[in-house]
Amino acid sequence: MYHLPTNTGWIEVICGPMFSGKTEELIRRLTRAQIAKQKVAIFKPKIDDRYAKEEIVSHSRHKIDSVIVESPWEILELAKHAEVVGVDETQFLGMDIVHVVQKLADAGKRVICAGLDTDFRGLPFEPMPQLLSIAEYIDKMLAICVKCGNPAKHTQRIVESRDLVLVGEYDAYEPRCRRCFVPPQTHPPTSEQLSLTESKKG
Ligand code: ZN
Repeated sequence: MYHLPTNTGWIEVICGPMFSGKTEELIRRLTRAQIAKQKVAIFKPKIDDRYAKEEIVSHSRHKIDSVIVESPWEILELAKHAEVVGVDETQFLGMDIVHVVQKLADAGKRVICAGLDTDFRGLPFEPMPQLLSIAEYIDKMLAICVKCGNPAKHTQRIVESRDLVLVGEYDAYEPRCRRCFVPPQTHPPTSEQLSLTESKKG
């Protein structure tokens, strides 16, 4: 795979739509580090209540113990002694996660962030574009389009909702390719809805 650097930190980003295996890939990398007896710390935002409270669980039910944070700044203190820092559902942590990740990598840690790079409208999902810009290593995962079988980069919402954040999985979303993706025909979320989303993020 990569020629990994020594005596320095770095940032890896695993991005893509839902159902592309991002969390599975994150768990795979973190498990390899644990086997090598590296000190690993794993975080996810409070918003994600799927499956389990204090574990990261992929759709295929692989799991790894994690700490839930409300603010990305908590990670700085909690990951102080870690050599490898994993973050899942990074897109829900807001722009401050960019500064936190940068500080962790500058402090010599390997930081691995997984998250959605586009939202249900097909638009870049901040802060992921910022993280992609500052990362050393990037993997864009693709799912398979449920309509035609092509590689799928989109997360199609299949229920009516204009909330930017709507937590769900097979009941609410499906992977679609560029050709089969249908952007929502609704107006963009109002500033009131966005501020609700922000307050949900904490
Ligand atoms: Zn398709």
